[in-house]
Amino acid sequence: RHRSEQHNIGGPAKLPASVLAQAQKEMVNYKNTGVSVMELSHRSSDFTKILTGGGTGQFSALPLNLLALKPSMSADYVVTGSWSAKAAQEAAKYGKVNLVLPKTKKYTDIPDPSTWTLNPEASYLYYCANETIHGVEFQHIPEFCGVPLIADMSSNILTRDIDVSKFGAIFAGAQKNIGCAGVTLVIIREDLIGKALPICPIIFEFQVQVGNNSLYNTPPTYSIYIMGLVFEWILEQGGVAKMEEWAIKKSSAVYDVIDCSNGFYVCPLDKGCRSRMNIPFRIGSAQGDEALEKKFIQEAENAKLISLKGHRSVGGIRVSLYNAVTVDETLVLVQFMKDFMARYRQ
Ligand code: PLP
Repeated sequence: RHRSEQHNIGGPAKLPASVLAQAQKEMVNYKNTGVSVMELSHRSSDFTKILTGGGTGQFSALPLNLLALKPSMSADYVVTGSWSAKAAQEAAKYGKVNLVLPKTKKYTDIPDPSTWTLNPEASYLYYCANETIHGVEFQHIPEFCGVPLIADMSSNILTRDIDVSKFGAIFAGAQKNIGCAGVTLVIIREDLIGKALPICPIIFEFQVQVGNNSLYNTPPTYSIYIMGLVFEWILEQGGVAKMEEWAIKKSSAVYDVIDCSNGFYVCPLDKGCRSRMNIPFRIGSAQGDEALEKKFIQEAENAKLISLKGHRSVGGIRVSLYNAVTVDETLVLVQFMKDFMARYRQ
């Protein structure tokens, strides 16, 4: 059936045909930028007026739903980077937050769990499985008895095999490995549902969402459709096991160049917590030679390698190796890094 042959007057949503045609065209190449509209930086002017719940919404939803699980109204937060720091800050609006690690701004390692100051009466223990900005990734699930474990897997879900049964809740903003920004995936243990604080907005109440099959309000249908396509794609490639195999291959190739560069490329992270998804590094020295880093970004762009600028709070370079980045693309980057080093090493 052709769209122009029917009049969709009563459906749950309606968009101008020309907008849909435009979206179709820009799906692959947005306004001749060479990237999809879904891959565009959300800081570009086109997006500044759009608000979403996303992963950040869960920074509020989790404490609002789970803080009252125990009379302590207190939660333990493992802060290993700026995303878990933001989550802890948000939770502190609604109850007590115990930071189990000493405060720091230098997120380069995960202190041994035997040194964590845990509260056995905490309602839950929260951590970020992969800190997207600082590149700190947990290689093992921290296991402690008696306190439900909550993980932000926004940037590494479906990139490694995980035992879901070890968690009270897992959440992930979709945009890294699942689909479009805005749609958020939440997996929650049934016995933790139903204790939301009275001030919890209804849209964040897990009991309401579960009771309505996540259809309490109008769902982001397009994003969910895209999510379905991504899940099918992952299965066709060989599932999460294949994604993990690729992630190891891709990240090892980049870390190998860094580690064999004799200090030309410097990744500040402890080797035990280096992320397979996000690799921040500096060029020239541990503090970074900014002129050289600028050159790296420019020359990389000339070689069609884009978006390598590090997060503004960290500086330097950041490589992000999400599932959709191929091994071959990564090898192009690796070769570029080697060539750049050969050209500029003193
Ligand atoms: N948590 C992590 C680990 C992230 O990387 C991000 C965003 O990049 C968020 C949470 C916030 O997600 P959103 O931007 O969807 O609110």
